Amino acid sequence: MKENVKEFSDHVFNKEWNEVYSTEQFEKEMYYNGDDLGAVYLGNNTVFKLWSPFAKSVRLNLYKSGDQNANDLIESHIMDQEDKGIWKIEINQNIENIYYTYFVAFDEKYHGLYDCEICDPYAKACGVNGKRAMVVNLENTNPDGWDKDKNPNINLPTCESIIYELHVRDLSSDQSSGIVHAGKFLGLTERNTTVNNKGVIPTGISHIKNLGVTHIHFLPIYDYTMLDETTKDLGDEYNWGYDPLNYNIPEGSYSTNPYDGNIRITELKKMVQSLHNDGISVIMDVVYNHTFNEEYCYNKAVPGYFHRIDEEGIRSNGSACGNDTASERAMVSKYIVDSVLYWAKEYHIDGFRFDLVGLIDVDTINKIRDGLNAIRPNIMMYGEGWILDTNLTKKDVELATQKNINLLNDFAMFNDDIRDAVKGNVFDEEDKGFVSGNTKMIKSLKKSIMGMPDWSNSPDKVINYTSCHDNYTLFDKIRMCDGEKDFNTYVKQNLLAAAIVLLSQGIPLLHAGEEILREKVDSDGKYVSDSVRHPDSVNSIKWDNLNKKEYFETCEYYKGLIKFRKSHPLLMLNTKEKIEQHMEFFSLEHDEVIAYRLYDEKEEMIVIFNSLEKSFELKLENSHEYDIYIKGNKAGVDCIGKCADRVFAEPISCTVVVYSES
Ligand code: CA
Repeated sequence: MKENVKEFSDHVFNKEWNEVYSTEQFEKEMYYNGDDLGAVYLGNNTVFKLWSPFAKSVRLNLYKSGDQNANDLIESHIMDQEDKGIWKIEINQNIENIYYTYFVAFDEKYHGLYDCEICDPYAKACGVNGKRAMVVNLENTNPDGWDKDKNPNINLPTCESIIYELHVRDLSSDQSSGIVHAGKFLGLTERNTTVNNKGVIPTGISHIKNLGVTHIHFLPIYDYTMLDETTKDLGDEYNWGYDPLNYNIPEGSYSTNPYDGNIRITELKKMVQSLHNDGISVIMDVVYNHTFNEEYCYNKAVPGYFHRIDEEGIRSNGSACGNDTASERAMVSKYIVDSVLYWAKEYHIDGFRFDLVGLIDVDTINKIRDGLNAIRPNIMMYGEGWILDTNLTKKDVELATQKNINLLNDFAMFNDDIRDAVKGNVFDEEDKGFVSGNTKMIKSLKKSIMGMPDWSNSPDKVINYTSCHDNYTLFDKIRMCDGEKDFNTYVKQNLLAAAIVLLSQGIPLLHAGEEILREKVDSDGKYVSDSVRHPDSVNSIKWDNLNKKEYFETCEYYKGLIKFRKSHPLLMLNTKEKIEQHMEFFSLEHDEVIAYRLYDEKEEMIVIFNSLEKSFELKLENSHEYDIYIKGNKAGVDCIGKCADRVFAEPISCTVVVYSES
């Protein structure tokens, strides 16, 4: 997202063709529904197919290496034109690990304007920097035991998931991680790593496992554009990966050898397998709403087809990246569906987070849903359902926005209501949220705590969070909006924010490192919003902070909250009816305090979020004796005190007490 805004270029825009792309006739006559686009490796032969309805000729180039600068063409073959805009050729020899490109040529009247050499949009493997595709025998990329690998949480109800949003590199790029494969997929397979390789405080995957989250959601791990994969060292060159290059190939910079097309595939599979063995499911962030720029390879095969371009050649820009994807076009929709299903099948991916899904049409998302359901149960889907200004190329198309959530099957959306209510508006540095004493969004906050913000009446379609990779980190935002408090107060506000997210109905999502008071500060000491291209020194998780008391205690608090959530089904109710039946708010005189009861025949739980800088007492009508589980900076499943006719809440903190029948 953001980034990559390019100067307008008409290289891949052809007015005449653009006018027909979204017509019913074109869609009908040119839609190809085969599942064999790209290079299908069959051992002693390989079949190549490319969809390019306006090309006059297409040539297949076979290369020895994957480096686009290497002068090592083996041979070229003219491809045959078939129905439905398909170009095909079969090579009758074993060409495993041979690299390839297509040269697509158009009518002479365009003076070579569109003729070019491209990577295969359906490529499954590629060389360094993703300019040449590779013929891959996927069987040979599987790690040992891959056939037995499966989602460890396949039966987990959606609302019982706890998601951790992570960038592959941030986990291990700081030296204090003690991880050998720093910045790589393999860094996530290293177990029992500790802070600075000494002591007992775990880092990396051991830390995440201890924390208790059920899913890791990775920032883009498909092949993206801007990071030069030939760069050997971690450091200044960094990217989040919202600049898609090859949608169906892992990013090369996360592999130990980006030159050999097999290695990145095997290493990603090893990562998935290792996480599965540790009980953690894997979600990938997918960015189909835009491409890196208009010169995306599919646009070169079919000039301008992939994007929403108006009659004047102006590209729709709801994504702020200058090139909204025309998902409403049949072959684009098919491409997105094929791609997601491929990751689920080939890489055993357990969930997909759709970047700016509000730009993608409802039909495409529902087709993906149906396709995933046919592969395995319980593959999560969620996304950013913001309403954005985009110019659709067809009439009567519905987009996958928050307001259309009920048109989507089993698809959750990020809840920006809770995010902004808890910590303040992300676009206004000085705006405070509930934890800093601002109660203006109190009504909306209560709805979110019930897992039902204005746009959803179903908690299993709501992703609750206060921070993610975008904008400032939670701790930075808390400090920025209220510059006059001391460190300990900020920590309390952070803990309160965590408690709200983890004790609300819905699906909680945490930004990696939030539990260690993650900050992003540049070399001038400034807080960094959107660290997309800042170096590792800004982005990395600083594990050695765990040696400091407040950081360690914060981490323990998050861990305690997660344990507590997991052991109380009342916190994970999955329908409106159940919530209305089992949950009620206390009416209080202060908006700075939110208190509610959750109850069923087995237990009664009282939750208090006190944002006041003084203590608060809630009088109870019952004469039960309650066990205290969360109080001050402590949270967990062990009783830490008792109370009876009143609950005492410390300043800026969450308090939870439980009475149970047994
Ligand atoms: Ca790349």
